[in-house]
Amino acid sequence: MTTFLIKHASVLVTMDDHRREIPDGGLFMRDGFIEKAGPTSELPQSADEILNLDGHIVLPGLINTHHHFYQTLTRAVPAAQNANLFNWLKTLYPIWARMTPDDIYISTQTALAELAFSGCTTASDHLYIFPNSSRLDDEIHAARMIGLRLHASRGSMSLGESKGGLPPDRVVEEESFILRDSQRLIETYHESPPGAMTQIVLAPCSPFSVTGELMRESAALARQYGIHLHTHLAETQDEEVFCQQLFGYRPVAYMQHLDWVGEDVWFAHSVHVSAAEIAVYARTGCGVAHCPTSNMRLASGFAPVYEMMRAGIRLGLGVDGSASNDGSHLLEEVRQAMLMARLRAALGGASLSSEEAPPIMTARQVLELATRGGAAVLGRNDLGSLEPGKCADFFALNLNRLDYAGALQDPVAAVVFCAPQHVDYTVVGGKYVVKEGQLASVDLANLIEKHNQASRRLVG
Ligand SMILES: [Zn+2]
Repeated sequence: MTTFLIKHASVLVTMDDHRREIPDGGLFMRDGFIEKAGPTSELPQSADEILNLDGHIVLPGLINTHHHFYQTLTRAVPAAQNANLFNWLKTLYPIWARMTPDDIYISTQTALAELAFSGCTTASDHLYIFPNSSRLDDEIHAARMIGLRLHASRGSMSLGESKGGLPPDRVVEEESFILRDSQRLIETYHESPPGAMTQIVLAPCSPFSVTGELMRESAALARQYGIHLHTHLAETQDEEVFCQQLFGYRPVAYMQHLDWVGEDVWFAHSVHVSAAEIAVYARTGCGVAHCPTSNMRLASGFAPVYEMMRAGIRLGLGVDGSASNDGSHLLEEVRQAMLMARLRAALGGASLSSEEAPPIMTARQVLELATRGGAAVLGRNDLGSLEPGKCADFFALNLNRLDYAGALQDPVAAVVFCAPQHVDYTVVGGKYVVKEGQLASVDLANLIEKHNQASRRLVG
């Protein structure tokens, strides 16, 4: 039994059902779970570990619902800087085909280190390319060294160019192998909440890189084990045209046809969805990972975030892969989501009746997407808020910094409105991942050097 007390935080943002923001707040934690959240004066005064967070804001750990860690190796590649999704993919597939297991390991640590510095405590990753004997195991082992919770998606591609798909044949896998490997991974690594550090997700990559049969069989396998399903959907106009031409359906209808809707499914992007399709998500319980930076970077469009929020859809944020962002800074994504929603409203995209004022996404609403929203998307009722019974996952920022100077009348808003910062503390399950602004686990300088070597070898 170990106990951990944090005290005297300038403000503790709970994101509990009452959205309490507690001045001079703190947490009392035992064995990785929160026992009490409240004013410091009401908490036990002794513990095995005590951290005085005077002058800091404390928030629930942020939850990243969509990423491709390996893409940190191919950020800002010159030939892919100015391409839309399909051309960007075609440029990068041959480079990614050179990756080795070591590259997966290194890039996972790089992405998770970046995420940890941005307040993230749980990350979902979508790995769908396994060249040169790479396996999802490489990512899982790397993540354990860093200490963030990982929802590792066993992605897949099976529809090569010769069968009408987008990826070159040499990066796709046999469907029978994909399913066998998925089952092996579930049985080897999947943990159930509360407190799970590793979960497995099945995630055929996208409608344009897998067959309908693989989608169906992946869903059947996932449901047999009670695990979640994830894929890219309705990201671009090109995808919509592709689905209509090849399958005779718009993307969301295609998912319904394949039995790929339900509370165990979440989709990345959902930029090009109609009101009727949003209603399908609401009725069936599908979740969405909103990735605003990626959608801007690839000129994909504006996701209808207000409409999805009003429809009560489970909605979280994702940084998406680092080749289409090109960063893994989740606090930056929080800010981008707020700004993008405001811009869309200004452009008349929110389709409200004329009597209603244009909606303005607030700092607190967008923080809610990144915490409670992300937890709901990943199916984690043990995460997303700081209250008794939840996991001891939080981050803290010293408010006395240049970037927040002049914004301290509302420190919660400062975290979103001001320039995105590196956090001072990130704690997962009561353990430090970032402590006093330093990564607690691996040597960062060494990691950066290895990462750059791997990137040079791949990109040339
Ligand atoms: Zn993606």
